[in-house]
Amino acid sequence: MSESAVVTRSSSSAIIDQFGRRLTYLRVSLTDVCNLRCVYCMPEDMTFRPRRELMSDAEIIAIVRMMAALGIDKIRLTGGEPTVRPNVVEIVRQIARIEGIRDITMTTNALLLAQLAEPLARAGLDRVNISLDTLDPGKFKFITRWGDLNKVLAGVEAAEAAGLQPIKLNAVVTRGFNDGEVVDLARLTLDRAWQIRFIELMPFGSEADFAQSAVVRSSETRRRIEAALGPLTEIPGSDPRDPARPYRLAGARGSIGFISSVSEPFCGSCNRLRLTADGKLRLCLLRDGEYDILTPLRAGASISRIQQEILDAAYFKPWGHRLPDGDVPQSRLMSQIGG
Ligand code: SAM
Ligand code: SF4
Repeated sequence: MSESAVVTRSSSSAIIDQFGRRLTYLRVSLTDVCNLRCVYCMPEDMTFRPRRELMSDAEIIAIVRMMAALGIDKIRLTGGEPTVRPNVVEIVRQIARIEGIRDITMTTNALLLAQLAEPLARAGLDRVNISLDTLDPGKFKFITRWGDLNKVLAGVEAAEAAGLQPIKLNAVVTRGFNDGEVVDLARLTLDRAWQIRFIELMPFGSEADFAQSAVVRSSETRRRIEAALGPLTEIPGSDPRDPARPYRLAGARGSIGFISSVSEPFCGSCNRLRLTADGKLRLCLLRDGEYDILTPLRAGASISRIQQEILDAAYFKPWGHRLPDGDVPQSRLMSQIGG
């Protein structure tokens, strides 16, 4: 659908935007804090928000419940690093009990999954996406500034053993850091039933210049993989709302996808809203518009009033980023949104 095809506001309680997109997927950032400092995501001396500014456990549950009543049925927990949030297992357990929520996933760096995968799965987590940019321990330490690759690999194993499947691995391709590693990562799919997704680097705030100079387009990543490992064949029947269409190498057990938010935005199929750790509803990853939900909640506004504000705000979910015009999201870094 084009930007001009604006539909009239729906009178139903489903969350439908001005372009007729039905929004059913909420990504919730549990914290802006992280136990790593990936070079493309945040500076080494990052300052985190004071605890009192973040949603409490009860506030997260209350907002998810209100949104589930408006048709949100899929939740992704993210961060910063969601596993460093105290009570993360209990938060999952409570979200899993909310009527209407049918799918709970998490994006994590996996450092703490060796301990947490099993309790999270028992609490109701369905799957995890694990960030893994390289299989080289030295490069991993360099990209994350101090991370231990062995802990991540142990986390991947623990997630698999706990049944958090299919395992999806996210690799942000960064020129000069890991663009030479994409073939090794893609090769993993030959023996493992994992989905490896190569993500284009996106610019945010103070880290934007770096991201713009180091971005590698998906077309280049794909060419590099095919030159080394042979043609990728599209796997039919995938979910059209998944930003990464899946491909397979000949004889591979797993699949490969490309998330091309910069070069090929997937706005037509976008069904997402984001809730930042400080309780703002963010309508688009790459546009700055946000609506404060936490302040009215703390001020005692009624559920129906907050729900109406969510419907009104979400109606104006934008279409398309404006990166080619130099319009880069400034209000937050990726770690403060959650991806
Ligand atoms: N800490 C968790 C992790 O790394 O998986 C969850 C939060 S992290 C912000 C979510 C995803 O965003 C990760 O896959 C990460 O690699 C990716 N990411 C971070 N900064 C990015 C950027 N500037 N452009 C594209 N992806 C980015
Ligand atoms: Fe932390 Fe994830 Fe950002 Fe890396 S990408 S610094 S693990 S929030």
